[in-house]
Amino acid sequence: MYNEKSKEIIRVSLIGNPNTGKTTLFNKLTGNAQYVGNWPGVTVEKKEGYIRNSFFPIKVTDLPGVYSLSPFSPEEVITRNFILENKTDLVVNILDATNLERNLYLTMQVLELGKPVIVALNMCDILKRRGKIIDFCALEDLLGTPVVPISAAKNIGIDELKKKILEFKKNNKRKIFKYNQDVESKLSKIKDVLINANVKLANNRFILVKILEYDSLIISSLNLKLEDIKKIDEIRGNQNEIKYEEHITSERYKKSSGICKKSVSDVSDIQKAKISRKIDKIVTGKYTSMPIFLAIMFIIFYISFGPLGSFCHDIAEKVIDSGIKHPVEILLEQLKLNNVLSSFVIAIVTGVGEVFAFLPQILLLLGLLSVLEDSGYMARSAFIMDKIMRKIGLSGKAFVPLLMGFGCSVPAILSTRILNNEKEKKLTIFLIPFMSCGAKIPVYLVFLNALFPEKKALMMFSIYLLGILVAVLVSFFFRKIVKPKESPMIMELPDYKWPSIHNLYLHLWDQTKDFLEHVGITILGSSIVIWFLQSFDQNMRFIEDNSKSLLATLGNIIAPIFSFSGFANWKSSVALITGLFAKEAIISTMSIVYGADGMNLDEAIVSNFTKSSAISMIIFILLYPPCVSALAAFKREAGNLSSLLAFVLNTSIALILSAVIFNLVNLF
Ligand code: GDP
Ligand code: MG
Repeated sequence: MYNEKSKEIIRVSLIGNPNTGKTTLFNKLTGNAQYVGNWPGVTVEKKEGYIRNSFFPIKVTDLPGVYSLSPFSPEEVITRNFILENKTDLVVNILDATNLERNLYLTMQVLELGKPVIVALNMCDILKRRGKIIDFCALEDLLGTPVVPISAAKNIGIDELKKKILEFKKNNKRKIFKYNQDVESKLSKIKDVLINANVKLANNRFILVKILEYDSLIISSLNLKLEDIKKIDEIRGNQNEIKYEEHITSERYKKSSGICKKSVSDVSDIQKAKISRKIDKIVTGKYTSMPIFLAIMFIIFYISFGPLGSFCHDIAEKVIDSGIKHPVEILLEQLKLNNVLSSFVIAIVTGVGEVFAFLPQILLLLGLLSVLEDSGYMARSAFIMDKIMRKIGLSGKAFVPLLMGFGCSVPAILSTRILNNEKEKKLTIFLIPFMSCGAKIPVYLVFLNALFPEKKALMMFSIYLLGILVAVLVSFFFRKIVKPKESPMIMELPDYKWPSIHNLYLHLWDQTKDFLEHVGITILGSSIVIWFLQSFDQNMRFIEDNSKSLLATLGNIIAPIFSFSGFANWKSSVALITGLFAKEAIISTMSIVYGADGMNLDEAIVSNFTKSSAISMIIFILLYPPCVSALAAFKREAGNLSSLLAFVLNTSIALILSAVIFNLVNLF
């Protein structure tokens, strides 16, 4: 046996909850070099022994198992006094890794004792079987002290632990866990009292905390003078008001649970992460990401606006026709209402019905986008887009608001608040209206159904792409003026998962409610106004021919500005005006003003538009200012001047591009 008086002896003590494998580890470390006795005065077993190694003697003491270092049991008192009385150089805190959170509660206190600590995570063999993984490096960082995974029973990691014990002097730093401000300020006041009273352990955090908890054993062991005890009582304040012990206990639990959350994960999660990383190699790969992104977007458009989407629309249209429109017409005939009233009712039913028929198709598109979001792909798209976004002076983060713009500009504009760079935020807001919003879908479709039934999906895709392209150009232009600062892209990619039906249902139900509200209020309201304006002339006489109506007069004033774009007539003009209130109103307005000629919308478009003027009008609708709700959001987030500027900018771009493309198409 080694001589205890030897200078170079390292004294190690094992601390841990009962049944964490202390004795097993002790036996493994010491082999036969151990002896068993009792702690003085109590019948608690005392085991001591030596680690055999060729350097210098290491004496190990197996301390009694404890859950805490309070003064309530002899085991706890033995354990803490052993350390406080400076009978150890190094504490090995052994934890049951399968029960990390509960075990860390003791660790929080052990770290306060002020001795170097090595954390030995025992039972790692069981951990694996339970499908859990502990990130040892993370745990080491969080605790600020070395962590060694071991299995005492299976003899795993013991040599590594011995090595760490030998080099313990190198990593003699621990993390100090702070309590709340009130507790911390009391601790430092108590420390001042102890320093004044020349107490040796005045710097020991464990002692300070125990004094605040009113641990009578500790307080009496310090042999303080009466006046110092009075001072401490004053610092602690009224015991009935604040129970520091509970306070400190609950903070320790919070800390251990926080550390646990950050360092323990399920194997299944890790597997998911592994799979995600594999998928990402392709999905966010240098050459593959863009083609995949475009392909996914095209497939979504093809499903929504190709055969399946059209089928949904046709069914909805038939249901509305035979379920609402026809019964209403028959009813009106039987009631023999006067012309004014029956034309009113038919106009409203047609206007609102036209818009309604598009609900299934809109839900199809938004549903598919929501599935992409839920699966984790959307977050990737921001990531994929980052490089491109940087070229136009934005970061990938701005991609999310822009993407939301395809749904509705209002939440999209509000969501720019996630951008902390003011210039980037403003620029993004300017670009959002160019992302074709969901309300415009039915408008494009009535034109495409009538004139391009074969090429709907491709045309839709091109429309969206054009909006994006214009946004890019606008951004290029603005970037030269405002020069936004680059902000780094920090984004956590969630793991891929199967989209949940429940989320999909919630999302679609929300969209349906929004749609119904929108159609219910704005479309119905604007339909009524449009019907009124087209049914009366300046002298408030009811007229059959709407070309002499108030509406026609109004429309004719505006129409000339569209003369280069190919739709300079009063009917399109008023439809575009109502579109400023809600884009869907363009359809209801058109169906009302053309319906007065006895045509349904399809026929009306075929006979009133050429392919080129329809394309031109679609482009105008894509690019002209968003609806009033979006403008209001714009004004709130970007200010009066900016929203006015945007209004002028969007109108000009829409006019110019629609005119240019109208003439180009005509040319070829
Ligand atoms: P102590 O109360 O902390 O001294 O714990 P013991 O050393 O007496 O061990 C408690 C129980 O855990 C015993 O049945 C050991 O065999 C078992 N044990 C200790 N270490 C391990 C380990 O690494 N893996 C497994 N599976 N069991 C262990
Ligand atoms: Mg034991």
